Amino acid sequence: MRMKRVAAVAAAATLALGLAACGGDDADEGTGAGSKSFAAGSTMEKLNKAQKIKVGTKFDQPGFGQKGLSGKPEGFDVEIAKLIVKELGIPEDKIEYVETPSKVREDVIVNGTVDLVAATYTINDKRKERIAFAGPYYEAGQNILVKKDDTTITGPDSFKDGTKKVCSVTGSTPAEEIKKYVKDVATQLVLFDTYDKCRDALKGGQVNAVTTDNVILLGYVAKDEASFKLAGDNFTKEPYGIGVKKEDTDFRNFINDTLEKAFNDGAWKKAWDDTAGKFGAELGSAPTVNRY
Ligand code: GLU
Repeated sequence: MRMKRVAAVAAAATLALGLAACGGDDADEGTGAGSKSFAAGSTMEKLNKAQKIKVGTKFDQPGFGQKGLSGKPEGFDVEIAKLIVKELGIPEDKIEYVETPSKVREDVIVNGTVDLVAATYTINDKRKERIAFAGPYYEAGQNILVKKDDTTITGPDSFKDGTKKVCSVTGSTPAEEIKKYVKDVATQLVLFDTYDKCRDALKGGQVNAVTTDNVILLGYVAKDEASFKLAGDNFTKEPYGIGVKKEDTDFRNFINDTLEKAFNDGAWKKAWDDTAGKFGAELGSAPTVNRY
């Protein structure tokens, strides 16, 4: 008799929990395990159940991912990641941010250190050999940062005479691209793991320029307009994607759906206006996601 009562109480409690979880669904923005329903066994279901997620991003790039006084990175990439996390039904404060310099991005996806990477990450075929990309959600282009009073560097061709040093980051597309222009890679190209080190080297006079995406460089200009400017026009196209595991097509589709929703409901534009948009770069019209 007693056992029966215990069982009845337990059943009622389970029912109440179930109803509470359904209640979350109605609210649309609901967070909490079971607040959204995802296909059994999918990455979305796994993350929603765990109620936590690891996001790889940059910590040194103003406007995209920069760690400041809040102790958490802030920027457009971080806001895009938050939109995805929200759609997974996970509260924002359950995101663990992992600093992900350019060189390690594929590695941390492949070995599962992070669940996704949002880090000024150019979509290209070489990277697609190891990981997959949702997006693009923005298109940047390579440019050059110089000291404000520099009149000698006007574009990538300015490195052809072999006299100027240019800094970039290991494992980035701009570090590869600039090799086409320098006369001598060994003496002219200086590589660090993060762009803030390149910026410091330029300010300190150890290099003549920094090269990477225009929007990253515009962030450094915005933070120190007295010292820096951009030299010339963009000379590549850098479409930014969200990196996920190569075989995880369902998660990639889910992120593409989330991006398209954000393009249409104003969340994408708001994310931009609140972050990198303050630094003078154009958002342009929403890109077309590439569901390859
Ligand atoms: N978008 C370029 C890349 O993915 C440069 C920026 C970066 O290194 O994060 O390599």
